[in-house]
Amino acid sequence: MVSFEEARSLILDTVQPLGIERISLLDATGRVLAEDMAAPWDLPAWDNSAMDGYAVRWQDCLTTPCRLRVTGFLPAGAKADRITVEAGCAVRIMTGAPVPAGCDAIVPVEDTDNGQQEVTLLEPVHQGQHFRFRAEDVAAGVVFVRSGTIIRPPEVNMLAGFGMALVPVYRRPTVAILSTGDELVELGRTPGAGEIINSNTLSLAAAVTESGGIPRIIGIARDSRASHLEKLREGLRADVLITSAGVSAGDCDLVRDILEELGARQLFWKVGIKPGGPTAFALYGSTPVFSLPGNPVSTMITFEEFVRPALLRMQGQQRVLRPLFKATLREELKKKPGKVQIVRLRLEKTGERWYATSAGSQQTAILKTMVDAQAIAVLPAESTSFAAGDPVDVHFYGNHIELE
Ligand code: AMP
Ligand code: MG
Repeated sequence: MVSFEEARSLILDTVQPLGIERISLLDATGRVLAEDMAAPWDLPAWDNSAMDGYAVRWQDCLTTPCRLRVTGFLPAGAKADRITVEAGCAVRIMTGAPVPAGCDAIVPVEDTDNGQQEVTLLEPVHQGQHFRFRAEDVAAGVVFVRSGTIIRPPEVNMLAGFGMALVPVYRRPTVAILSTGDELVELGRTPGAGEIINSNTLSLAAAVTESGGIPRIIGIARDSRASHLEKLREGLRADVLITSAGVSAGDCDLVRDILEELGARQLFWKVGIKPGGPTAFALYGSTPVFSLPGNPVSTMITFEEFVRPALLRMQGQQRVLRPLFKATLREELKKKPGKVQIVRLRLEKTGERWYATSAGSQQTAILKTMVDAQAIAVLPAESTSFAAGDPVDVHFYGNHIELE
């Protein structure tokens, strides 16, 4: 048996980012940038106006109010090469238009009488006001977004602004999902006596998608050597293989043996965590293989704590663990020392503090508590019970949590 922390390190020290692909910027949201991106030109590329108004010479505007002759018009998109602001004159200018020669201040239209032939400036003018200076945002050659950054709309905007239609991102892992067990029937069929629907496959596919992977449903391996051999072989063609059930010490638990027979090297089996103890992790070549327990709550929790960080790492993400924060317990939590205990919680924020209550029965068989959980507390192995009022480390459970 390995500890929770050892299991995590073994996994995260083993998995590596996958290769790089170049994809359309339109598809890049949520993907992880795989190269540092440097500005190909200055941003802005030229000095330009931050306001709709008038381009003026500051020395002409030392008195308030002051009157200037309007000698030109510069809309956004215009070229300023042949336009100069002469002494005693102003050029009408729109936001984003290049600043003409001679001009060293922009007067917003709101501070004038909005004149067409002549304009009266109604407010004092400061040198350089309402200018956007060339390169003041990003200078050419400067890295404006680093490798490892998750692409959001602001990154898309800058990449697009610099003309980058294709962007280098880490590949998304294909993740084979294989359930095992003779009691399982696929979704869409009515379970007979003793049968249950293979819900883990659906839930794992959802979790894989939420973690940026591409699920490949392999189906069900029946509790026979032949069926396991066939299905595991198929699963091992993906970038990652996740199996559920058949990994405890039961008579029909074949997953580990057959994986070994196929040439996978087991890095650990059994983790000091509850729920989720029988989890195994192996490598087939460089393909990570996660053998998760079959109980749906254990499957989801071990995915969350072990598989999700690995999938994020494979996609080049830097911070693969959800951030921990303190929540104050509203009620006592009982625990035996020796294993890390995962507790499913509801959260509430009062003032600056987070408070946590149990999301329901913490028994492994109770699935609804998982549905109700907004957060997970990872109670350290050495700890015993926690009293109401004690702080515990928690992390959110899921990417889309609604808090009251
Ligand atoms: P096992 O790990 O094979 O002992 O299974 C533990 C429990 O999880 C049993 O109650 C199984 O029926 C249940 N279980 C196993 N596989 C699945 C699955 N794919 N979907 C839903 N429940 C499952
Ligand atoms: Mg079974």
